[in-house]
Amino acid sequence: MIDGFGRSIDYLRISVTDRCNLRCVYCMPPEGVEWMDHEEMLSYEEIIRLCSLFAQVGIRKVRLTGGEPLARRDLPELVRGIHAIDGIESIALTTNGLLLQEQLPALLEAGLTAVNLSLDTLDRAQYAAITRRDALDQALSGLYAALDAPGLRVKLNCVPMGENDAQLVPLADLAREHDLAVRYIELMPIGLGGSLPRRTEEEVRAMLEAAFGPMTPCDESLGAGPGHYFTIPGFCGKIGFISAMTHQFCDGCNRVRLTATGFLKTCLQYETGRDLRTLLRDGSGDEVLLEAIRSAILHKPAQHHFLDATGRREDERHNMHQIGG
Ligand code: SAM
Ligand code: SF4
Repeated sequence: MIDGFGRSIDYLRISVTDRCNLRCVYCMPPEGVEWMDHEEMLSYEEIIRLCSLFAQVGIRKVRLTGGEPLARRDLPELVRGIHAIDGIESIALTTNGLLLQEQLPALLEAGLTAVNLSLDTLDRAQYAAITRRDALDQALSGLYAALDAPGLRVKLNCVPMGENDAQLVPLADLAREHDLAVRYIELMPIGLGGSLPRRTEEEVRAMLEAAFGPMTPCDESLGAGPGHYFTIPGFCGKIGFISAMTHQFCDGCNRVRLTATGFLKTCLQYETGRDLRTLLRDGSGDEVLLEAIRSAILHKPAQHHFLDATGRREDERHNMHQIGG
């Protein structure tokens, strides 16, 4: 489907829960949060029904996120249901990796095609400080299980925040031996992300080039997202950047988001969109739901305004674990 600004929308990010087993500083407050009630969350049947309608309007790629998606029971069941939908070509997962090693065989068997694992540091004490949990070993077991899985596309996502400067080079170094895309995501001013220091793509690139020498831009686009990539001589994998702040990519945006409560969110920065859960639960037929999806996509905002100093009435006020990143 084409939105009101001529962009082709073929990518749906689905948040399956707001719950998480970590408390990352840019995502959740230290005191924790009040979780949503289970009844507020879409059931797997409801998500699968919506996915088949999204496939009818042209969604081809689905990503499951959260909160921590692997913290929701029986996630492979959902993957299997989405995999069976005509038109869906890939099902990816964004995870902190803690529960990945044990769940990966069932996820692969159900049809999972790609994993993005979030990891901001390889230093145990720093990992515990950033995520507020001493769980680096579990995250690394998840990462290595994913790297060992034949045919699975694996990316690592790191948010550079200044405090993890010394870890950016060791993280990139993982792409030397492994066919892995190590990506640096500019911190966005969503929720708690607005009050933390951030590093820009240029700053991170300078640190990596000081360690590895010049990086060469590569034309290949890896996956469905807005990342752009570089190669380093002698490296098996690639280095990527997702730079919403300094390299705005809204012109080519191909995505919409479905929150765990069934809200169709058409731009990360705005709360605007459409409540599909109410329609699902009041017995609306497929045509009504399809019309709601089409109309929301048609009205997708042109761009974010992260760089404006002033907020807007319709700006997103949730934290990232409630949106899905
Ligand atoms: N729990 C899973 C994980 O951490 O991968 C999935 C959900 S998490 C909200 C998705 C991604 O959003 C993570 O890679 C996280 O680092 C990123 N993220 C969270 N808050 C962010 C912010 N303010 N700016 C940029 N990325 C953010
Ligand atoms: Fe949990 Fe992911 Fe948010 Fe960290 S970024 S608190 S792992 S949802």
